[in-house]
Amino acid sequence: MLWRGRRESGNVSDRRSISGSGIAIGGGAIGLIIYLLNVFLGGDPGQVPNMPYQSSRELTPTEQAADDERASFVKVVLAETEDVWHKIFEEEGSRYSEPTLVLFRDMVQSACGNASAASGPFYCPADQQVYIDLSFYEELQNRFNVSGDFPMAYVIAHEVGHHVQNLMGISSKMQELRQRVDEREYNRYSVMAELQADFYAGLWAHYAHRMDTILEEGDIEEALNAANAIGDDMLQKRSQGRIVPDAFTHGTSAQRMYWFKKGWTTGDIRQGDTFNDASLTLR
Ligand SMILES: [Zn+2]
Repeated sequence: MLWRGRRESGNVSDRRSISGSGIAIGGGAIGLIIYLLNVFLGGDPGQVPNMPYQSSRELTPTEQAADDERASFVKVVLAETEDVWHKIFEEEGSRYSEPTLVLFRDMVQSACGNASAASGPFYCPADQQVYIDLSFYEELQNRFNVSGDFPMAYVIAHEVGHHVQNLMGISSKMQELRQRVDEREYNRYSVMAELQADFYAGLWAHYAHRMDTILEEGDIEEALNAANAIGDDMLQKRSQGRIVPDAFTHGTSAQRMYWFKKGWTTGDIRQGDTFNDASLTLR
């Protein structure tokens, strides 16, 4: 992604130096499995069992420099989401309000509960903040074998997509549903919400490239590889060796790729109504 030298968002709360130094228990296999299942969690870390996590040690100067560069990348992507969503909301005759992005290390407190790096990136509707631990950058590369910088942009755009859903009243409807329907049915709605966030990430890429030419050759493929690697079916196969469709909360690899691509190719927010899409409502 062509990001260097571009505007960095001012809506970033950098808590990397204060959030670290937790209790080191060691992640282990259990931690990893829970971690895999909660990647791209839709915004309720209160629901995540308090899992053991590996507290990170002090960074060396070289690592610190790399970390700061990632922070800059995140700030540029966030700024690009601000420009794009202001434009889309304007086109729809309304006003976009920008979320804050919290950078943390190891542990963080949110209005949705305490979260650790193991929760993966998430959005908390109650405080309208996106939470990112930069170590997820490495997780994408090492655990999911996803290369390039664009997958991280996709992750941020996906979380900002949940913020857009919050502004549109979808998040509160989801909370209402959680009280009313059983888990199996709630999971189906969760898949629709997550796939819509993927669609919004694709829509963001479409607008950002049109407005600012941010994409390089291969970026969209990188994002699609990431979407493929984090589909529920793929994660379940990796973590438990079998696939349980009723437990899907984010959609299959094919669905995640499909909706990201649809946002990217159409550039039309009206095409992203996953809640009324026959392929998702009929089962
Ligand atoms: Zn999500």
